[in-house]
Amino acid sequence: MTMNHVWIITDDQSAVGELCGGGRQLGSQVSVILFSGHEQAEEAIAAGADQVYLFGKPGEDVIPETYSRSIAELLREKTADLVMVHSSIRGKLMAGRIATQFATSVLSNIVELTVEDSSMIAKHMVYGGLAIRTVKALSETVIVTVGSGIFEAMPRDAARQGRVIAVNPEVVNSGIRVLETRPKQGESINLSAAKRVVGVGRGFANKEDLKLAEDLAAIVGAEMGCSRPIAEGEKWMSKERYIGVSGVFLKPDIYISLGVSGQIQHMVGVRQAKTLVAINKDKNAPVFKQVDIGLVGDIYSVLPQILAKMKVQH
Ligand SMILES: Cc1cc2nc3c(=O)[nH]c(=O)nc-3n(C[C@H](O)[C@H](O)[C@H](O)COP(=O)(O)OP(=O)(O)OC[C@H]3O[C@@H](n4cnc5c(N)ncnc54)[C@H](O)[C@@H]3O)c2cc1C
Repeated sequence: MTMNHVWIITDDQSAVGELCGGGRQLGSQVSVILFSGHEQAEEAIAAGADQVYLFGKPGEDVIPETYSRSIAELLREKTADLVMVHSSIRGKLMAGRIATQFATSVLSNIVELTVEDSSMIAKHMVYGGLAIRTVKALSETVIVTVGSGIFEAMPRDAARQGRVIAVNPEVVNSGIRVLETRPKQGESINLSAAKRVVGVGRGFANKEDLKLAEDLAAIVGAEMGCSRPIAEGEKWMSKERYIGVSGVFLKPDIYISLGVSGQIQHMVGVRQAKTLVAINKDKNAPVFKQVDIGLVGDIYSVLPQILAKMKVQH
């Protein structure tokens, strides 16, 4: 069973494919709101959108949140059943503002959405990822935030037809004025799109030792990820690379964790991996309850041996 009209709102083009894939699963009609140009709108149509509403790039001193009222009016006029907002920081702010105009609440951190008897049933993470709560949405327009790795993108179809509608939104004072925008220092990496990921945890004693994991990643063609303490505490890797409830959600073919204990806040970010592998020296580490292949061993002795064998075969 599906909803009638699903809407997608995103300020991040890389989220369009998965959200459109989800939209097509859940609704008979998919409309997308973008803050970019025609080229991106055509991409959204190829990814599964029927209509794309272009709100245009906000100006230097205008932020997408200022369009929230215009967006809410459009959603009401077109009778939106489900509104999926990409859970970027800006997306969450927009979702909140739009929801207030529908006198409803936002369901955030969605892990699963299904339609039962014309009602939306949502599973979402609560208590920092320690629990999954199932709720039934009672409002006529359901507003949710969805991160990466929840839905699967459909194969791109350049022959798909759709409409692109340019909107001239009303700019309503958002109570925020932009003072300055500067390029972010750090990495720009889309870890959630990686097919193979090697994740490192506090089992590594020094930053230099991460070379062992990097060598493995290089041989198997994997991206590097990490647990939160490695990025937030040690600052050995950038925040864009930490995996879990407060970081990135992955959907790789394989995730190899090295010296990661396997706390739930980390593991929710990798549960959609097709194969999970872990190396940890503690046989009672929680990670072993959640993986397909577990190796009890010290990374400092196991990894050099694995690397030596793989280098010979490589
Ligand atoms: C609200 C909240 C949100 C959070 N969000 C996230 C999140 O998004 N992502 C995240 O990762 N964490 C998150 N955390 C933190 C999380 O609870 C864990 O503390 C964290 O994931 C642990 O990281 P770790 O496994 O690297 O370190 P540890 O828990 O310290 O585990 C290190 C592991 O390495 C093993 N080890 C040690 N030496 C070796 C060796 N030589 N060889 C092999 N194994 C070895 C140990 O046996 C141990 O299991 C969050 C916590 C809270 C409260």
